[in-house]
Amino acid sequence: AAKNAGRNRLSYFTQALQESAQYRLRLINDLLGALADRQFEIHFQPIIDLASRRTVKAEALLRWNHPEHGTISPAEFIPLAEETGLIVGIGDWVFREAAGCLQRWTELAGTELQISVNMSPAQFQSDVLVIEDWLAHLRSLGVAEQRLSIEITEGLLLNAHPSVTDKLLAFRDAGIQVAIDDFGTGYSALSYLKRFDIDYLKIDQSFISNLETEPNDLALCEAIVSMAHKLGLKVIAEGVETEQQRELLKRISCDYGQGYLFSRPLPPAKFERLLQDNRGHLRA
Ligand code: C2E
Ligand code: MG
Ligand code: MG
Ligand code: MG
Repeated sequence: AAKNAGRNRLSYFTQALQESAQYRLRLINDLLGALADRQFEIHFQPIIDLASRRTVKAEALLRWNHPEHGTISPAEFIPLAEETGLIVGIGDWVFREAAGCLQRWTELAGTELQISVNMSPAQFQSDVLVIEDWLAHLRSLGVAEQRLSIEITEGLLLNAHPSVTDKLLAFRDAGIQVAIDDFGTGYSALSYLKRFDIDYLKIDQSFISNLETEPNDLALCEAIVSMAHKLGLKVIAEGVETEQQRELLKRISCDYGQGYLFSRPLPPAKFERLLQDNRGHLRA
């Protein structure tokens, strides 16, 4: 009987494994057609100037509305898109959507509104990513380069191939802003801050979520803000969920906040309404 139970357990695991591998394969297959089938959508999460309480920026966050499985989290499908190289085409689409929204929302929010898009290392490693095409697209829309920001992680800059760093420098030279996402969770070699003339540090939400109770987290945030300001960078706190966190961040002179306290990521029409209602002056 024990032998049987063992065998059953084994077959159960084998089956689960097969199913998950099959599920992955099916998702990859579905990803192939998702762009053409218009299954992607971008949601925009407001980024608030902590001093003036105005919505001055937004992060573009990709959503996949799968016809069978419903909304699939980017944490689940972005890695698959990266592995398969599909992220390059998807990332291009995200950029074009964000650029179109920047153009449409100029009247509502003014030319200071900035939108950031997340970029994977795979996009920088690809020959298909032609920065000149992006720049030409922005020009054709009449959107200033400074209104677009790209979010990258520290890993991209560590031992990066020259073709990767050349691309980053080309973005910089064109005036596109650069933010380091999830700051504090990577290698933090810091020297890259100087070399690439970064504009923003986004403090990872793991440093923010216990800000009220963890003196060490507050000390770290304070040190990051102070260092960033001395280097001429601005700081965005990610995952701000409570009024107390907002207060503390303001007290340590953090520049911007993003998180559920202010707003969840919103579909374009809802974000547009927020801009309309507040004319960019979100009272958080
Ligand atoms: P990220 O760039 O660090 O984005 C922030 C994530 O935190 C988002 O998750 C956002 O919805 C979530 N968030 C915002 N405020 C709060 C809060 O107050 N509390 C909590 N618990 N979470 C909050 P999301 O949308 O699921 O995206 C996950 C990750 O997927 C992103 O992390 C980013 O790395 C990646 N991603 C999303 N869109 C794209 C894209 O277009 N291209 C690429 N390459 N990656 C993307
Ligand atoms: Mg991001
Ligand atoms: Mg982040
Ligand atoms: Mg700079």
